[in-house]
Amino acid sequence: MTLPPFDLHRPRSLEEATELAERYGDDAAFYCGGTELLLLLKLGFASFGHLVDLKGIEELRGTWADNGTLVIGAAVTHRELERSELVRERLPALAMMERSVANLRVREVGTLGGNLCFSDPHSDPATFLLAVDAAVECRRGGGQPRRLPIGDFVVGPYQTSLVPGELLTAVRIPALPEGAAVAHAKFSFHERPTATVACLARVVGGSIVEARVAVGSVGARPVRSSAAEDALENTPVAELEGVLEDAGERAAEDSTPVDDATGSAEYKAQLVKVLLGRTLREAIA
Ligand SMILES: Cc1cc2nc3c(=O)[nH]c(=O)nc-3n(C[C@H](O)[C@H](O)[C@H](O)COP(=O)(O)OP(=O)(O)OC[C@H]3O[C@@H](n4cnc5c(N)ncnc54)[C@H](O)[C@@H]3O)c2cc1C
Repeated sequence: MTLPPFDLHRPRSLEEATELAERYGDDAAFYCGGTELLLLLKLGFASFGHLVDLKGIEELRGTWADNGTLVIGAAVTHRELERSELVRERLPALAMMERSVANLRVREVGTLGGNLCFSDPHSDPATFLLAVDAAVECRRGGGQPRRLPIGDFVVGPYQTSLVPGELLTAVRIPALPEGAAVAHAKFSFHERPTATVACLARVVGGSIVEARVAVGSVGARPVRSSAAEDALENTPVAELEGVLEDAGERAAEDSTPVDDATGSAEYKAQLVKVLLGRTLREAIA
């Protein structure tokens, strides 16, 4: 497998990156870690005369707190997130989720932005980010940033709502509600996850007053299951086991599992039920 020839561009600003994308149009592609894009080129599934490397754009790097919101630059790698002191302090579940992505070699170079922009249905971060109500920020050159919920950004398999020349610049995660905890779990037997579930639970006075259930990797795109959330909300923690079966069935139905190389739809529905129980128990522990 060898890479076909291309011109490499290394812009230093968002304006420069957008200008290059506009100049070369369909013959140009952005890339960051290259773990997805370069593989596609090597396998002959895509071909571009110009690659625009985003790693040198300072604005896409770094992780910081904006009041209660955790802001992560699109070019931050999985490994940087896994090891970030700020992330471990503010949202340890995010660091733990990142530690489970791929393998060390991929995590060293693969970025959060690249993962979301590639929009592979088998993604850990997209599922996790749905459960924590994350938003993304996108920008085209020097234009105004466009902020949208993660659920409106990842619109389908290998499809996002980015417009030509627009970059994903950052992911914004609001502080969890007081008393809430989040947990993420997945099952995989190939490289990519077969099923991913992330749950947020807020317990007040011994009852679950808020539940968020996100399911990914089983269907065309990750989704929140409002039906499962309804089944869980206002349930006393002591009675959780009694509602889990129903909540799991609702989550499996809402996630619309499909048959693919990672398993049958029926098998994935069963995995969703198991992972929902595991993540919820962890979130309320
Ligand atoms: C062996 C293997 C195992 C894996 N296992 C898992 C797993 O367990 N869980 C999981 O979630 N993922 C998994 N992945 C996916 C991995 O997380 C992604 O490959 C990685 O995060 C992609 O980041 P990148 O920077 O390398 O993307 P790139 O390959 O650089 O880019 C991917 C796509 O996004 C576009 N792009 C990148 N950055 C931007 C931006 N800022 N703005 C606009 N467009 C952009 C590019 O044009 C390209 O189309 C696995 C991948 C491999 C190869």
